[in-house]
Amino acid sequence: MPLRHVRAIVLRSHRVGEADKVVVFFTLELGKVRGMARAARRTKSRFGSSLEVGTEVDLTFFEKESRELVSVDRCDIVRSRFTELSDPILATTLGYLTDLVDGFAPERESNPRVYRLLRAVIDSMSTPETSELRARYFEAWLLRLAGFYPRRDHCPTCGRALAQEGARYLPDEHRLECRHCLSSGMFLAAETLAYLERIWKTPPSGIAAPGTAKVLRELGQFHYRLIQQQLEKDLKSHRVLEDLLEEARRS
Ligand SMILES: [Zn+2]
Repeated sequence: MPLRHVRAIVLRSHRVGEADKVVVFFTLELGKVRGMARAARRTKSRFGSSLEVGTEVDLTFFEKESRELVSVDRCDIVRSRFTELSDPILATTLGYLTDLVDGFAPERESNPRVYRLLRAVIDSMSTPETSELRARYFEAWLLRLAGFYPRRDHCPTCGRALAQEGARYLPDEHRLECRHCLSSGMFLAAETLAYLERIWKTPPSGIAAPGTAKVLRELGQFHYRLIQQQLEKDLKSHRVLEDLLEEARRS
């Protein structure tokens, strides 16, 4: 059996049988890989906390061509934010980011830019107050890197600059048009489009919150619409996160 050694971020895991876990890794070299971690749930497991969601690891595994799951041999922590991100909002945000990657990344297709994006956004997470911003930032870039972010410079119908007019989204055509050309549909104000430009130009650790809360709300609704269109399903972690953020806003 060939032994492979890769760098990976843990996307999720679930229990199987008495003591084992199936773990989904997003590897730098091979993209998404599913592995079986034997005895990972024993108290003195050799894996320790290396299989926690969002942990970056050096992963060693065996694979058999006939098997869908690789066999996890070693998993050594490179970077863990498990303790710092234990707050419920932060932990849920992290779970949402990794769910998104799990949803968007095809099996065994390397995507170093998405890998670096995920690592950088996880690194930039600090307080629950910045969670919404990090989630919107990550969605924007993930959608863009996956080629699903519609053009946002000029209205394709009349040529007006969208950044001055604001835009509406036409889902059937998967495009943004100006408010003169499209009278209904999800609206993105000019300030929301301007903030999006900042997202493209700023690393996740350096981006400041927009002037008004409305910007993140509009982006969130727009992004999730795009995500649902692409994944053709709902993500439970999205709903849980939005409920937690709503609760935090009210308190
Ligand atoms: Zn137009």
